[in-house]
Amino acid sequence: MGHDGRPPHILLLTTNHTYRAPAFLQAAESLGIEVVQAMNMPQALAEEWQMPLGIEFEQVETAVAAITAYARQHPLAAILGVDDSGTLLAAHAAAALGLPHNDPAAALAARDKFVMRRKLREGGVPVPGFRRFATDDDLAAIARQVRYPCVVKPLTLSGSRGVIRANDPDEFVRAAARLRRLLAKLGPGPHPFLVEDFIPGFEVALEGMLDDGRLTLLALFDKPDPLDGPFFEETIYVTPSRLSDDAQTAVADCVAQSARALGLRAGPIHAELRLNEDGPWLIEAAGRSIGGLCSQTLRFDAGASLEELILRQAVGMPLPSTPADAQASGVMMIPIPEAGLLKGVGGMEAAKRTPLVEDVAITARLNYTLTPLPEGESYLGFIFARGETAAAVEAALREAHSKLKFEIAPVIQLHVAGSESSGSWFPV
Ligand code: ADP
Repeated sequence: MGHDGRPPHILLLTTNHTYRAPAFLQAAESLGIEVVQAMNMPQALAEEWQMPLGIEFEQVETAVAAITAYARQHPLAAILGVDDSGTLLAAHAAAALGLPHNDPAAALAARDKFVMRRKLREGGVPVPGFRRFATDDDLAAIARQVRYPCVVKPLTLSGSRGVIRANDPDEFVRAAARLRRLLAKLGPGPHPFLVEDFIPGFEVALEGMLDDGRLTLLALFDKPDPLDGPFFEETIYVTPSRLSDDAQTAVADCVAQSARALGLRAGPIHAELRLNEDGPWLIEAAGRSIGGLCSQTLRFDAGASLEELILRQAVGMPLPSTPADAQASGVMMIPIPEAGLLKGVGGMEAAKRTPLVEDVAITARLNYTLTPLPEGESYLGFIFARGETAAAVEAALREAHSKLKFEIAPVIQLHVAGSESSGSWFPV
């Protein structure tokens, strides 16, 4: 209950393409917390769709004013951004209302990869060498200045969108031009981007919770498929990690140090790291929880979900003790095999019947376009498995995946001669 005896009221900042909202709404219901969703959209559209609140997340000042006006009518206990797009606004609005949250400067550092790299380096966290450029710079000139192999990446996209490895100057120019085309489609340029040293190694993801700056490790996932580029499509995540105890401790210490360097002190943290003979390297730390539907792999004390933990902490409810559940579990983000229209998915029943597999969810819609990385931004679907060991879970995910057959109609690109514009044509 809130101070006035009414259930606490949380504002959830979501987008219309998030995977994360249903899990939060379900968690809120089971905790008796009232949640209102604010979508990233203009107020007029929100009214048309009969949504309680529409705000444009990038227009921080106007959006904070809209949230504070809303909060006068409906007192809020907390504001949460569920995806990267909402974390910065959540911090600003919470600050304006005096609600506990990460400092806006910390939220920015966890949102903008250049600010993040600088703060991490200042805090002594091992990070790849990095330089910032802009899409209107002379790419051939940059190609002569950077070290290889390198990675080009945008500053604020997520899900590996726009992240491309280049092994030599020619590949660099092609990669940077491709990133420039992608960013130009998202808004008027020039756009800043980073060039980083490529860090070889084994990749892991850490899911944790920060409370008054103290990090509690919730899960460490191994990513057993090599992520060597040129694009970095996520596939399998399995927990518990099969790394040595020493390596796991080094990873957790590196994430705690990163949180301090960024100033993140409250709420969920999701970090990606690479490990090699020099130890862990921080690739990215975000002030949000794991993306996609991947949180379904996690269950805490008394069956609590990750979202329940996050909501409880946000409204100051006691957290259940959170030993990772005794079983191994994992998820495969199903790779997009090729660009095109998704026409059908076969083998679902067989895939679901695979021993240890708990669920197979196809989230891409039939007759909609599948766009692979580096341009794409959504998943084909997810396979979930749970079992005694991480090795058995990983094998089950691969087996279930091998039973799925995707029917994809190819896209034929139309290039209009003498013009920058191009269109797509889909055979029916
Ligand atoms: P996003 O926020 O879009 O996920 P990241 O910076 O986390 O972007 O990069 C996505 C993936 O690309 C990482 O998980 C990693 O596999 C790979 N990657 C990014 N930067 C580097 C790097 N400097 N060296 C090696 N791999 C990298």
